[in-house]
Amino acid sequence: MSHDSKTSAPETPASNFLRGIIETDLAAGKHAGRTDPNGNPLPTVITRFPPEPNGYLHIGHAKSICLNFGLARDYNGRCHMRFDDTNPEKEEQEYVDSILDAVQWLGFGWKDSGGDHLYYASDYFDQFYFMAEYLITAGHAYVDSQTPEQMAANRGSFTEPGKNSPYRDRTPQESLDLFRRMKAGEFKDGEHILRAKIDMASPNMNMRDPAIYRIRHAHHHRTGDKWCIYPMYDYAHPIEDAIEHITHSVCTLEFQDHRPFYDWLLERLAEGGFFKKPLPNQYEFARLNVTYVVTSKRKLRQLVEEKIVDGWDDPRMPTIVGMRRRGVTPEALQLFCERTGTTKSDGWTDYGMLEAAVRDDLDPKAARAIAVLRPLKLIIDNFPDNLADECAAPVHPHHPERGHRNFPITKELWIEADDFMETPTKGYFRLFPGNKVRLKYGYVVECTGCDKDENGNVIAVHCNYFADSKSGTEGANNYKVKGTIHWVSATHALEAEVRLYDRLFTDPNPDAGGKDFKQALNPNAKEVITAYLEQGMRHAMPDEKFQFERHGYFVADRVDHSATKPVFNRVVTLKDSWGK
Ligand code: ATP
Ligand code: MG
Repeated sequence: MSHDSKTSAPETPASNFLRGIIETDLAAGKHAGRTDPNGNPLPTVITRFPPEPNGYLHIGHAKSICLNFGLARDYNGRCHMRFDDTNPEKEEQEYVDSILDAVQWLGFGWKDSGGDHLYYASDYFDQFYFMAEYLITAGHAYVDSQTPEQMAANRGSFTEPGKNSPYRDRTPQESLDLFRRMKAGEFKDGEHILRAKIDMASPNMNMRDPAIYRIRHAHHHRTGDKWCIYPMYDYAHPIEDAIEHITHSVCTLEFQDHRPFYDWLLERLAEGGFFKKPLPNQYEFARLNVTYVVTSKRKLRQLVEEKIVDGWDDPRMPTIVGMRRRGVTPEALQLFCERTGTTKSDGWTDYGMLEAAVRDDLDPKAARAIAVLRPLKLIIDNFPDNLADECAAPVHPHHPERGHRNFPITKELWIEADDFMETPTKGYFRLFPGNKVRLKYGYVVECTGCDKDENGNVIAVHCNYFADSKSGTEGANNYKVKGTIHWVSATHALEAEVRLYDRLFTDPNPDAGGKDFKQALNPNAKEVITAYLEQGMRHAMPDEKFQFERHGYFVADRVDHSATKPVFNRVVTLKDSWGK
């Protein structure tokens, strides 16, 4: 997949408040006529996706990716891929690589005719520092030397104003000297901190002289040991946006209270001549919460480290690598993100919506195949011993142009165990002694009885076939049956490992209200079985998706599947039967 591939929108995009804001700005020409430092014209919509490279992306990030890259796509703008890597301790190259891979897999890119819009906040460390010196000189920032405990005590509360630090009135010269010595490594972590000088009595706690630079003697994955002071997120983020000429900086609702500082900082820096107006604006939307899913990085890590799942890409995980391995397609995720909408109030999205998007995406695409998951032998007693009679089925029932698949019917077949009942219940139309069913794409058979082991378990079912009843021949219409079942030849079938996946939790809100999410694990979220597939499935390629008729959508596992050891994952069942 190329980096600059641009996909089209999955469905006609629904309007939402962000689109409203963008359209108003476009109509007003708010960002028209801007140029970059080289004089190249800038798009009128520039968004960004700014992950911290400290973990694997999950379904919530997919929402943010689809939103930011999707807005840029739909308004002829561009979206910057930016690593917010200002926090040295937790970040690693492994995460950078997996995040880039995830964004591309989802169908988005960061290159356009104007260049490669992949950025690292750490590339701005010199600028962050330079602007901090400016803020000190202009009287907008000071070095505080209180202990962390004193700072916390003087911060006040929601009901009480904070108290000014005794160091708040340091002269700019004194603060500048201390700040330079902080940078030079003269102090230990926590000994001093640089704070914006705003208002310790502000009702908004984020405006009570927020910290903007702290001492951290730590190795950074890209800048090494060059720095021992690092900018705080709230300081770095608005500057990153302004440097990159972001027009609409979209984030989740918990940052709403941080917006006044975002605006304050950029105003001060604009006064200092660092940035031109219009400045970037921050807009908040409600994060995606999906039932039966946890997205907290800490909890996901716990699932991996305690080996509750088989890794970050376990198909039960809500990580992008996990969903990908499960067989969820990028198109299905885009469709899901579009359908969940973008609002300003928190809520829960039903997991069933994700499954529905997967079905809607795969139904028109996935080739059909026969798989017997819970095998029981069916013996056609009057079938010639060595005959392998070719049957044909469409690759896709609505796409005749995709042709046919062929597989033989033989004397011994595998059928689903629950397609036979020795004593049928009311309304059961499949195999029972004396009843006729159609073997799909094959013949009509009449059940004659069954064999049992010494414990009374059915081990084989017997029937006779009607040689003139083959599907697709004239005689087929002479037989009226109420049941049709699927089957594979016992002598030709492909034996495969099939992993039946389901929701990882049984509780729709596994971690709500301080609940222990590990108490809600679904013990049946993974079942591994040996199944029999139609023989053509030996040609399945890793990551290829199929509909196993009557069962659901399956994917050849992208890691473990091979022609000699076939492995398929269940993506989703055909119908939503959860909890019913
Ligand atoms: P988490 O707290 O879930 O581990 P994060 O916010 O720490 O995620 P970042 O790497 O900072 O992870 O996130 C990158 C972007 O993805 C941010 O803009 C963030 O707002 C967005 N994002 C993260 N989780 C969600 C979610 N559940 N819904 C929508 N956007 C999300
Ligand atoms: Mg974050």
